[in-house]
Amino acid sequence: MRQPETVAGRSPQPVRPRRMQPLATLPLFFRLAGERVIIAGGIEAAAWKAELLSAAGATVVVQAPDPCAGLEELAADPPGGPIVLERRAWTAASFAGAALVVGATDDAAEAARMFRAARAASVPINVIDMPAFCSFQFGAIVNRSPLVVGISTDGAAPVFGQAIRARIEALLPFGFARWAAAAKEWRADLSALGRAARRRFWERFARLALLEPDRIPGARDRDDLLRQACSQAESDGQAGHVSLVGAGPGNPELLTLAALRALRSADVILYDDLVAPEILDFARREAKRMLVGKTGYRPSCRQDDINALMVSLARSGKRVVRLKSGDPLIFGRAGEEIAALERADIPVDVVPGITAAQGAAASLNVSLTERGSARRVQFVTGHACDGRLPDDLDLAALADPAATTAVYMPLGSLDTLRRRLLAAGVERGRPVTAVFNATRQNERVVSGTLATIHGLVQGAGASGPCILLLGRALRSRRSIGHGGGDPMLADGAGHAPARR
Ligand code: SAH
Repeated sequence: MRQPETVAGRSPQPVRPRRMQPLATLPLFFRLAGERVIIAGGIEAAAWKAELLSAAGATVVVQAPDPCAGLEELAADPPGGPIVLERRAWTAASFAGAALVVGATDDAAEAARMFRAARAASVPINVIDMPAFCSFQFGAIVNRSPLVVGISTDGAAPVFGQAIRARIEALLPFGFARWAAAAKEWRADLSALGRAARRRFWERFARLALLEPDRIPGARDRDDLLRQACSQAESDGQAGHVSLVGAGPGNPELLTLAALRALRSADVILYDDLVAPEILDFARREAKRMLVGKTGYRPSCRQDDINALMVSLARSGKRVVRLKSGDPLIFGRAGEEIAALERADIPVDVVPGITAAQGAAASLNVSLTERGSARRVQFVTGHACDGRLPDDLDLAALADPAATTAVYMPLGSLDTLRRRLLAAGVERGRPVTAVFNATRQNERVVSGTLATIHGLVQGAGASGPCILLLGRALRSRRSIGHGGGDPMLADGAGHAPARR
């Protein structure tokens, strides 16, 4: 990870682009509409290739005395270009002038003949599942046509390639297809613009598509973009924007797709010190990262400074991500940030995250509600502005035996909380579990009762963010075996999803 910057830090040095590393294969994208492609042979594996080539608009000519059933079906109903079954053996002569040849045979000697014939005709060839007889490969595809992503492992690990394809699928909203189609359509409207204006147009186009992938682009967008592109000032009309994004409790697997996308398109990321470092690795390399930590336990940036910083960055046209641990709307002072941005007329949106209580409950395999015994869930803070237990805590609500309570920031006031709850009549044996670093590799779980938890937490010597879960729902924690150790005190790392 790159070194983070603090608010007072200086701008990063521009990174010099590195020289291209060696490439195993060169990805190229062939236009096949109306082109003739030969499939030589008719084994079953040919059907998928015929479908792909037809979808790309090619006229697919299959030369095979006995084509498989899949090919017969496709020829009757092709997805794009026609699929013609010529029921005869392939001939070298037919390769001339074809755009591509696909060999569909299990016989290595025949594959070698096909390969030689295609090379002689200067036509690229792929014999299915025979890398030695391929001059090109089919990669895995993510299809947002006209936006297309091809993935190759140079034949080394197709299953790995597919897994990567699934990741990229999740990253690319389907709406990108519409934006890419709009780009194709709007290109002609830019002919009157100079080079710099065209560049401004496409930069703003990309920004808009990344920001609002699911909106259907229309003539108004095109006209707005044209108007902005024609205005002289580089920054004029370049609207900044702030997203309050939930980073979840720590394990990056618990980020939402929307959070990932926001990180990928941010110019600047203002993050709290509770945000796990691994999460920042998902940001664009060029994004500026600024620590604006304010955990409450240390001297930190004032909220007003953070608000002012967000406003000024957005005003200068930056896409700002305000990255908060857990869910931004829970104990994150998001209300103040949203109000400040709205006052300044800066567009703001919120990407929810998994809050610490949910992360901890999932790690513990504990349901926060239980039919008949845990009917309510409440999130409270153990930390008032002065660091002490808030005076206005609703003790009756906390004492409710049918409630599960999550106490955020519990450590500074744990003993006071314990004493107040006992005084309010809560039974000494009410189950309590403290989870440190929930969902992270270094997760620690300390389970006990209202009477014992303070001593157990002190004795555990654990550090990091901690959340307390209190209520009958936590009973099941005591029935989980901990391999003979103290059943009240356990290292819970085995429950962290990161280790699964
Ligand atoms: N917005 C956050 C809460 C911010 S307040 C959320 O929704 O989770 C900060 C407090 O959250 C910490 O003091 C701690 O009580 C809790 N917290 C955040 N991350 C945590 C984690 N990984 N494990 C345990 N507690 C955590």
